[in-house]
Amino acid sequence: MDRFIEETPFFNAEHLRLAASVASFVWREIEPRADADEDETEQSKSDERFRELVALLAQAELLRYAVARPDAAGFDVRALCLIREELSYSSPLADLAFVMQGLGTHAISLAAPEHVRDFWLARAAGGRAVAAFALTEPEVGSDVSAIQTTARRDGDGYLLDGRKRFISNAGIADFYTVFARTGTRADGRAEISAFVVGARMQGFSVRERTRLIAPHPVGEIEFENLRVPAEDRVGAEGDGFGLAMQTLGTFRASVGAAACGMARRALDEAVAYARRRKQFGQPLAAHQLIQEKLADMSVELDAARLLVYRAAYLRDTYGQEDSYAPTLARAASTAKLYATEAAQRIIDQALQIHGGAGLIHGHIVERLYRDIRALRIYEGTSEIQKLVIARELLKDSDE
Ligand SMILES: Cc1cc2nc3c(=O)[nH]c(=O)nc-3n(C[C@H](O)[C@H](O)[C@H](O)COP(=O)(O)OP(=O)(O)OC[C@H]3O[C@@H](n4cnc5c(N)ncnc54)[C@H](O)[C@@H]3O)c2cc1C
Repeated sequence: MDRFIEETPFFNAEHLRLAASVASFVWREIEPRADADEDETEQSKSDERFRELVALLAQAELLRYAVARPDAAGFDVRALCLIREELSYSSPLADLAFVMQGLGTHAISLAAPEHVRDFWLARAAGGRAVAAFALTEPEVGSDVSAIQTTARRDGDGYLLDGRKRFISNAGIADFYTVFARTGTRADGRAEISAFVVGARMQGFSVRERTRLIAPHPVGEIEFENLRVPAEDRVGAEGDGFGLAMQTLGTFRASVGAAACGMARRALDEAVAYARRRKQFGQPLAAHQLIQEKLADMSVELDAARLLVYRAAYLRDTYGQEDSYAPTLARAASTAKLYATEAAQRIIDQALQIHGGAGLIHGHIVERLYRDIRALRIYEGTSEIQKLVIARELLKDSDE
């Protein structure tokens, strides 16, 4: 980690200590393995590797920063962001292994019955169970409240039917926090409830493991007459939409942090290459057009990190105060939008500075060029972030 966190006012002494220890863990344990993130084409081997990453993160006692304690008490978004930035610097796959343990359990920490909550949180934080978050469907992406998967009350349980698509960790996860329709509201939108579904439950299947532009275990899952005991419902009937939004709201800035990690790596690679590579009798770094690119990349990266850590700081400081909710939503969406879009531009420029070498399969900037793309889409696309920002802005100006 560079001196950013020492030089900005968002962090406390514990964050400084954490950042230093995560940086050394990543350099020792993650960086040497990162080249293999793409090597494994055989599904079972890449799943095994992913589980090893989860175990490694558990051993280093990092997963407890992703998996909230009951009621999300003391959840530290700045720590979450610092860890994601550092992991993504070396391995976006390790970052995914880290963050999914949190995304897949956050609603459980907020609202599951005590015994269900304690069972899954302990396993997720200890790396003994892999978690997933299942909201998106084949016909429903951004428009969450139109989901079609149903959960029908049946005696002391529910019967789930439907399909979920683009589910990170599908096929690897031991359990899923699933959002399903338990009724229809007066306005015709879904009344959504959340459930914990174990991967071994009868009626659960993985329909597809979907290959994407970059390594990211993702796939489609299906529920057919799957029986979930009522005690595995998370929160009350109808609380699901709020729980999904609370989860995404808490983790949103951290997507920006992951983008910053990738962008910081791209900038470091570009600076090193510009110093090393000579054209027209001098290093690329001596050409002013290259200097301009490096300067632009540096400014955008600084701006992205400031927005990310501002959003994280605000949430850590004012997260319990309802009157701050619009401010927090706007700050998190601004951070996610700007950091992911800026990171894409920064990585693109890093590749440009590398010339043809940057296009070679396996080169780090070529990998980053593919890794960054999904971040502008998942957990709310850039367009949806703009809608949130504008909505909060217009609300503010109405007052
Ligand atoms: C790598 C990856 C991992 C993912 N992991 C998970 C996961 O673990 N769990 C999960 O539940 N989901 C996951 N998703 C799904 C992800 O959250 C959705 O892809 C995302 O919300 C967008 O939905 P969509 O792809 O269906 O696009 P759509 O909602 O169909 O949107 C298509 C395009 O239209 C735009 N658009 C939509 N509505 C509007 C509007 N009102 N105004 C303007 N433009 C609009 C969008 O911005 C987008 O550009 C993942 C996706 C990816 C790519």
